[in-house]
Amino acid sequence: MKKKIKKKRKKLRSLKAIKRECDKIYSIIVRSVGYCQSCGTEEGKNDAHHIYERGRWGTRWDLRNGIRFCFLCHKRGIHSPSFDRQRPVSNKIIEVKGSELLEVLRVKSLQPVKKNRELLESTLVYLKEELLKVEEKNEKINSIGID
Ligand SMILES: [Zn+2]
Repeated sequence: MKKKIKKKRKKLRSLKAIKRECDKIYSIIVRSVGYCQSCGTEEGKNDAHHIYERGRWGTRWDLRNGIRFCFLCHKRGIHSPSFDRQRPVSNKIIEVKGSELLEVLRVKSLQPVKKNRELLESTLVYLKEELLKVEEKNEKINSIGID
């Protein structure tokens, strides 16, 4: 009997592992845009930036809160100590997302969130569905390219 309980526990994934997978899929989807949404480059390493910081769980996996940046726009334009709000990168965020949506996200990002298994598991299901949509879209684009 004891053994059975142990087996069941093993099957249950840790919250940390689910969170990590959510972050990973979120990043893949945001980066699937294919170019830097600030300067437009398709070259080099690219990052998924959280407009409202990752630590705010209200919008941590809200795909509208994600924007793809190249390394330079991300690290120098946003996360640099000399970050200047008037720089084109932050203007680009407003241009891409619209100030109305940004306000919706800002409010949502500040809402308290119950950080539990239910939230993480439902988030993972949602993100996997969204990832499938992205993959299907890319397959369509690729098959048009071949024809
Ligand atoms: Zn860029």
